[in-house]
This record gives sequence, C-alpha cells and structure tokens, in this order.
Amino acid sequence: MRKIAFGYSTRCNIKCSHCVAADERPFHTKMELARARGIIGEMALAGVTGISFTAGEPFIYFDDLLELVALCREKNIYTRIVTNSFWAKTPEITRELLGRLRQCGLGELRLSYSRWHQHHVPRKMVLHAARGCMAAGIAYFVSFVTDFSEEDDSFEQFLRDHGLKFFPEPVIYAGRADAIGRSAILTDYQDNRCAMNPYLAPDLNMYACCDAGSHFNTTNFFLLGNLKDHSLDQLFARSENHPLYTCIRHMGITNIASFAGIKSREIVTYRKCELCKKLFDSPETLKMLGKVAQTELPKWIR
Ligand code: SF4
Ligand code: SF4
Repeated sequence: MRKIAFGYSTRCNIKCSHCVAADERPFHTKMELARARGIIGEMALAGVTGISFTAGEPFIYFDDLLELVALCREKNIYTRIVTNSFWAKTPEITRELLGRLRQCGLGELRLSYSRWHQHHVPRKMVLHAARGCMAAGIAYFVSFVTDFSEEDDSFEQFLRDHGLKFFPEPVIYAGRADAIGRSAILTDYQDNRCAMNPYLAPDLNMYACCDAGSHFNTTNFFLLGNLKDHSLDQLFARSENHPLYTCIRHMGITNIASFAGIKSREIVTYRKCELCKKLFDSPETLKMLGKVAQTELPKWIR
C-alpha cells in the first residue's frame, strides 16, 4: 500500500521553536492548486491509498484543501490532515469547518499539540477540534509532541483530564528544533525500524522519509528526485527498491549502526533520527554501507 505525506505549502500561521518542517529561510513555498490536483490524479493511478496533508498549516488554504480532499474521495484515497487547530476558535466555527470537510470525505484529523504549539494556540482549541471531530464522525488523534521532560506533565494531564485520544511523539531534532536543547536519553536497545512513508514537498521534491528526511543536506540521502523530471511511479519505485531503505525498514537503524562498528553503549545515547543522520548524512559511511547493502549488511547479526 502506498501512502504519502503531501506538502501543499510550507506556510504556517505560527512559529513553533521545535518545528521540523521549518528551517530559518524567511520565505515559504506553495504548490499551484491545478498542479496539486494533477498530482493527486497521478497518485491514484500509482496506487496511492492514503494521503496526509501536512508541511505548513493546511487550514490556511481551506478552500483549496476542501477541493483536494474531495478529489481524493473521488479517487478512493483516504485522507488525513495534520493541523495545529488554530481555526477551532469556538465550538460553532469548529462544527462548521469540520462539517464541510466531512462532506468532502475527510477521513481523519491529526491534531498537533505540545508546549511549543500551545505557546501560540490555546489548548482549548485542540479540545474544540477533537470534540468537533467526534461530533462530525471524523476520526482524530492528538499527536502529543514531547521531549519527555517534566515540563510536559501538565500538557499530558490536560489530554487525560479531557479523555482525548493521544500518543506521545518524540521531538525530532531537525529543522528549527535542531537549535533547541536536549537531554541525554535513557532507552532500551531498540531496533528502530521505520515505515518510511515518502514526503512530497511543495517544490515537488520527493523524499523517502517524511520526518527528518529532507534535512540530510550533506548527502541528500532521502531525496528521490523531483516530479518535474520523473513520474510519481518512478519515484515511488526508487523508494521501494533502494537497498539501504530496505535495510532501514527491515533491519532498523540500530542494527545498521552496529554493523557500521558503532558500539552498543554509544548507540543507546542516540535518538533514532540522529543516529540515522550520523550514518547516512556522512558521505564516507554512506559509501561503505551502499557497497554492502545487498550482501553482508542484511545478514548482520549482532
Ligand atoms: S510545528 Fe506545525 S504548527 Fe508549529 S510552526 Fe511547524 S508546521 Fe506550524
Ligand atoms: S530514523 Fe531516518 S528513516 Fe527513520 S524517521 Fe528518522 S530520518 Fe526517517
């Protein structure tokens, strides 16, 4: 099943200091609506079954979003929107906007929530959005972005107190978040496998990983190519057949790091995406791993 994160625009109404989607460039990019419609048509032909509208804040272009969601329904593509809930100012406004999205066939809302988001958006708006989804029959969950510090306890308690469906999502220290402080992690020795859903950016670059994958700027390891030069099907096939991506999916980052000679006690001091960056944003390590990606590497047993 092919799924993709669809970046219609990088524009956002707020500026979270932990934002992985942003860097310090002052401008934003946006896809043409007609182009986006054409791409969704191509996605349907390429067998895409799920699209997650993300990147900046999708609700900024609400009318365009309605049109794109409706088109997805026409093409039998399940839709999710990732949003910071800034638009859910009152229960009435929320009901109206979600009613229109529901009519267009929206499947799910993912509500971004954290102490960084809530610096700009009152948390009652996340509550409005979640309750609005329940009333409208739209699936939802709260993506609770956290660095697992005590500072986040009251934010988690708020979700518990209101019975909201949430899951904790670790901060990814890329983009703007690269500059924020971080504590040492205490973790088990985990495989760290990744599903690796691709991400299509508004400038039509497509990346094999939708999380920190567009930030590996030394090697551009996850860059699959640009839709101006390749078909969507070609870029998906590149993602699905790349031997090192296959190792990430099946072996996990930790086993690849172990193969690369990194000691276990060092491996457990890394967060997943940082370990991934250490391996794949280094030209020397990437070259070494690329040579064995179909031979010794998949057979590695620690
Ligand atoms: S984290 Fe989300 S809501 Fe915050 S600035 Fe980035 S895109 Fe906007
Ligand atoms: S570990 Fe690598 S592949 Fe997995 S989410 Fe992070 S950047 Fe993407």
